[in-house]
Amino acid sequence: MPVIRRPSRLATSLVILFLPFSQASGAEVDLLIVNAKIVDGTGNPWFHGDVAISEGHVVAVGADLEIETARTLDANGRVLAPGFIDVHTHVETSSRREGLAGLPRADNYMLDGVTTIVTGNCGTSEIDIPAWRAELQNLGINVATLVGHNSIRKSVMGADNRAPTSDEMNQMRSLVDKAMRDGAVGLSTGLLYVPGTYADTREVIGLARVASKHGGVYASHIREQGEKLHDSIGEAVRIGREANMPVQISHFKIKGRTRWGTIGSALELVESYRRDGIDVVIDAYPYERASTSLGVTLPRWAVAGSAEDIAARITDQETRARIVAGMKSMLEDGGYDDYSFAAVAQYKPQSSYNGRTITEINKLLERSSTVDNEIETILGMMVDGGAAGYSQGASMIYHYMSSEDVDTILGYANAAVASDGTIMAFGRGQPHPRSYGTNARVLADFVRERQVLTLEDAVRRMTSLPARTFSFYDRGIIRPGFVADLVIFDPERVTDKATYERPHQYSEGFDVVIVNGAIAVDDGEPTDVRAGQFISRAVGD
Ligand SMILES: [Zn+2]
Repeated sequence: MPVIRRPSRLATSLVILFLPFSQASGAEVDLLIVNAKIVDGTGNPWFHGDVAISEGHVVAVGADLEIETARTLDANGRVLAPGFIDVHTHVETSSRREGLAGLPRADNYMLDGVTTIVTGNCGTSEIDIPAWRAELQNLGINVATLVGHNSIRKSVMGADNRAPTSDEMNQMRSLVDKAMRDGAVGLSTGLLYVPGTYADTREVIGLARVASKHGGVYASHIREQGEKLHDSIGEAVRIGREANMPVQISHFKIKGRTRWGTIGSALELVESYRRDGIDVVIDAYPYERASTSLGVTLPRWAVAGSAEDIAARITDQETRARIVAGMKSMLEDGGYDDYSFAAVAQYKPQSSYNGRTITEINKLLERSSTVDNEIETILGMMVDGGAAGYSQGASMIYHYMSSEDVDTILGYANAAVASDGTIMAFGRGQPHPRSYGTNARVLADFVRERQVLTLEDAVRRMTSLPARTFSFYDRGIIRPGFVADLVIFDPERVTDKATYERPHQYSEGFDVVIVNGAIAVDDGEPTDVRAGQFISRAVGD
């Protein structure tokens, strides 16, 4: 690497902060990015400047830095921002060929400008953190994990629909305690899902208190995102208040056509709790469609227990009639006439269903288009393997939200941008495009095309806001002393390519991605430098 000789003069006093002189090459710094339009992550207006990086950290920020450097990178007037921090992902998986352990470079995230992800959301996580950490070799990006209530409860109580005994409660507490000591950043819940849904608020508070003792965050897929949205926000806030910890409400939304346009009052509720001194913030993805299991179309009681338990209920005539009645009232409650809002992302038993709506699959099966027949189709898919859940059975894409509501949510000052996505095995299935395109979509659609957000505010929601909530105090802002997680992009060119129809497309326009000071993406292509780290909780004990 050529040493670019620039006059050896430290231009301003702000430059000399954190400047080590340890380079073997004789250069003062490893990398100097010049000629950048710096969007620093705080939400402040952009400014022209240079950024010097040494030993994985930003060591100087300023105009026309004059420092001897091992390498110079000309940003050519493009935006230089902190690397994005995505606080809502699901990258653990039972299959070691997939997930972060199987695909550790994390191309779909890296090429969307992401340098750090938080996984273990919605109550599902690895429980043995050291064992998982050992599997995470050659990471392309940084990862932190929450410990999930559903996973903890399942390991102690199975899928039982009951309260824990005091012995079981103690076992769950000690599992949370161990995970936090092993570096988890907080507790997550998925109170919509089995078995977390069987827990009352007190149980969650009991476990949240353990995570709080270690400085953790409470991140929740709240109990209900439709009719009882306000109550469910209240429950999350109560848990945070009684456990004395910050609250992150995950993938904030209101479900169902009948309730579209009413999200503003839920955001006002969040804001009123903040005025009362509760640290509650939210995250959201920039899409009107959600992605989850097929089982959520059934009443919750019907999907308790194992896949066999669920299939037994569906095949029992009397129980089936109750399930059908429940599904009809759920459909009506959401304001839907049929299941055309529900499309298959990946159906393991029959891949020809991938990408088709339930209404289309029903026709494919030569059944007439009635709600009863579509319910038969769903129940048949459940029995034939869909009951095995999101990753093993059937993952779905649901048109739950309105684009106006998504704009309102992402316009709320304390909403972070987060994908709710996973590591993509390129080309497999018909997944939700959010795993590929979340950040590019915000910058292209919400900032450039429709001007719902300013560039600086959008970047803040991807960087310093999530860093604050998860106590990543040395990331998320471009400032001397902070870790050099950075991204360079042209705001006129950055584009999400992934669509519902053709999801397997990487975002374009993130020309350079720097992870812990190393160039992980150059000219829009992965360099295969693996500089990612496992990030542990920063405070508390
Ligand atoms: Zn969730």
